[in-house]
Amino acid sequence: MGIIRISGEKAFPAAEKIFRPARPKNWQGESHRLHYGHVVDFSTGKVIDEVLLTVMKSPYTYTRENVVEINCHGGIVPLRETMRLVLAAGARLADPGEFTKRAFINGRIDLTQAESVIDIIRSKTEASLKVALSQLEGGLSARITFLQDNILGILAQLEAAIDFPEDDVDIESYREVQKKALEIVKELDLLIDAAVKGKIYREGIRTVITGRPNVGKSSLLNALLGRERAIVTCIPGTTRDVIEETINIRGIPLVLADTAGLRETSDLVEKIGVEKTREFLAGADLMLFVVDAHEGITLEDREILQTLPGEKTILIINKTDLAERTGVIREENIPSVEISALKGEGIELLEDKIEEIITGGGIVTPESIIISNVRHEEILIRARGHMAEFCSSLEENIPLDLMSIDIRNSWEALGEITGSTVTENLLDRIFSDFCIGK
Ligand code: GDP
Repeated sequence: MGIIRISGEKAFPAAEKIFRPARPKNWQGESHRLHYGHVVDFSTGKVIDEVLLTVMKSPYTYTRENVVEINCHGGIVPLRETMRLVLAAGARLADPGEFTKRAFINGRIDLTQAESVIDIIRSKTEASLKVALSQLEGGLSARITFLQDNILGILAQLEAAIDFPEDDVDIESYREVQKKALEIVKELDLLIDAAVKGKIYREGIRTVITGRPNVGKSSLLNALLGRERAIVTCIPGTTRDVIEETINIRGIPLVLADTAGLRETSDLVEKIGVEKTREFLAGADLMLFVVDAHEGITLEDREILQTLPGEKTILIINKTDLAERTGVIREENIPSVEISALKGEGIELLEDKIEEIITGGGIVTPESIIISNVRHEEILIRARGHMAEFCSSLEENIPLDLMSIDIRNSWEALGEITGSTVTENLLDRIFSDFCIGK
């Protein structure tokens, strides 16, 4: 089983060459129809496979071009053979992402939507997928377009003042412009914040499991891994030459750094020393600090604990299944969870805690926009920079036409997110909204 998709002007002629419908009929007649038949080798007349052919006519297709999909019923050999015939009949192999690229070029989707298709394919967890899907629906585009419209409003007011300098720009409209501009900066700040959160889903939370030897770090790791069916991927570390492993906790990808090393030596602290540990931990987003319930928090534990940033640390009291406990097992200001890694008890509570700390009370709500794309984040920061520049030049005595450059730049930057065109669009908008020539 497999589907071969052909798109473009030559899609129908290519399919014509290799497809023999079961009942002689004009399969190209109606759009969005399925036709039963066979793929036949046009040079030998040999039947290759039994297929269903889907016919979709431009413009109501994914690419807005004519599209034919051949649903092959045989195994991998007939599928390959059909592919060979399709190529021989005049098609060529699509580049990666080419169907989506064409959908964008032909105006069916905008850039954010095209990019979300890639994110969907790459999403690490279901939550990442949800983020990508909401982007596909156009939530981000709508926000950006709304912001752009507001920026144009300001620009139009400025342009009017530049074109008709004899009409003094009154203080009221000046205040109005300032207020609008500040609101836009605020909105951009929110979106940039959303991008920071989006990073969680794109890159995952860098997590370190630490603690003295034999407290149960490896066992905890195994318990976490064992619970989650999805060990998502093994990627080479980006900053250091280590293997990182991603596990999925409630949809949040946790990137466990150096777990291979951890498992081998079973002891990060001993291996590299407290001083080095501190350095290593500085780059982490989440610390799981394991102690032994049986032994309580020892002096050494406390020493390590003091080097860990409290807001990112969870104290894990392991081996609660061992009957007697000694020592103190509470620490001020650090959330703690009691578990038995060996018996798999308390792991769910730990997951609750992790989720709580990372999401700060739930970041993925259906309405919330999350920016998971680095390109978008970079553009938002740039657009915000221009707007902030404009706001501060409002305070100074800067010529209007110079100020309008910042506004324009901000508008254009945002357009790079959706891929909207630039100058013509801009002029059209200004003239349709304001009757300057009146
Ligand atoms: P690490 O050196 O911190 O990685 O510790 P390990 O995970 O290798 O565990 C050290 C020892 O403690 C092993 O013998 C484990 O079986 C045992 N252990 C780990 N977790 C628990 C637990 O929850 N209960 C009990 N009773 N033993 C545990």
